[in-house]
Amino acid sequence: MSFPDLFALSTKKFCTVAEVLVWTNVTHKWDLKALFYRDDGIDIATWAAAAAMPCWNRFCDSVGGYTPHEFENDTFSWSINADKEFTVASISFVVNNSKSVVWDSLLIKWLKAMWDLKLPPKIKLFAWRFFIDRLPTKDQLLKRGVSNVSNPICDFCGNLLESSSHLFFLYQEVKEIWNHIFVWLGIPEKINIEEFVLFGDLQEKVKNIKRRTMINFVWFATIWCLWIMRNAIIFKGEVFCFDDICSNIVFLSWRWLYVGYTEFRRSYYEWFKLPLSDSITL
Ligand SMILES: [Zn+2]
Repeated sequence: MSFPDLFALSTKKFCTVAEVLVWTNVTHKWDLKALFYRDDGIDIATWAAAAAMPCWNRFCDSVGGYTPHEFENDTFSWSINADKEFTVASISFVVNNSKSVVWDSLLIKWLKAMWDLKLPPKIKLFAWRFFIDRLPTKDQLLKRGVSNVSNPICDFCGNLLESSSHLFFLYQEVKEIWNHIFVWLGIPEKINIEEFVLFGDLQEKVKNIKRRTMINFVWFATIWCLWIMRNAIIFKGEVFCFDDICSNIVFLSWRWLYVGYTEFRRSYYEWFKLPLSDSITL
């Protein structure tokens, strides 16, 4: 629906266009009284002018290009097809192309890289929500009108509004975790910590696909472990623990790789000591 405000205000929600056009000679006028009629005694003109006019004007602008005909019946037309006829094939066209309407091409690329990994489904779902910024961080909850967010402040630092970018990247202790993991991995490619933290840069910089896969697993284990720690702090009253998060990242990334790829048969100890060792490939 293009004009939800207008639709909400209208008292004649399911009328046809013909029912709300008034014709004098060959010119037409919208019958505002019919569209916004209220029987509670409030003066229509005043009420409509105040409440509906801003969106009404936007609506009129958008239909300005259409010319109604006094003696033609209303018909449905399907705007996706040039001939305005509905076809089932056009639906799959819309579905297949809707991603590019909602998300930019970079995000689609990152999502594809993520879906292609053999991560546990639960983690993929989490990662998807992370990429499209739909994790229930407090800023998102407030934006969506969840009113019982008693404290919108981040529980890691107790200082700033909790947002995804703050929680996963900007809080100082979190930066130190990324840094620690970055040093542990010892990525041989020329890549710095800022590029490592940015998923897109990481994909560009690490060309070796097996190595990139392993690094990506660590990357997703990092955001997952931060999220789990955040939830433990909020819901179980635990405290932020650098060592716990780091060792969980190392362990989980190993376990996910082990479960996802039969070629990956390193012991946890080998992984812990030398995660990207050249002698043992994925
Ligand atoms: Zn914080």
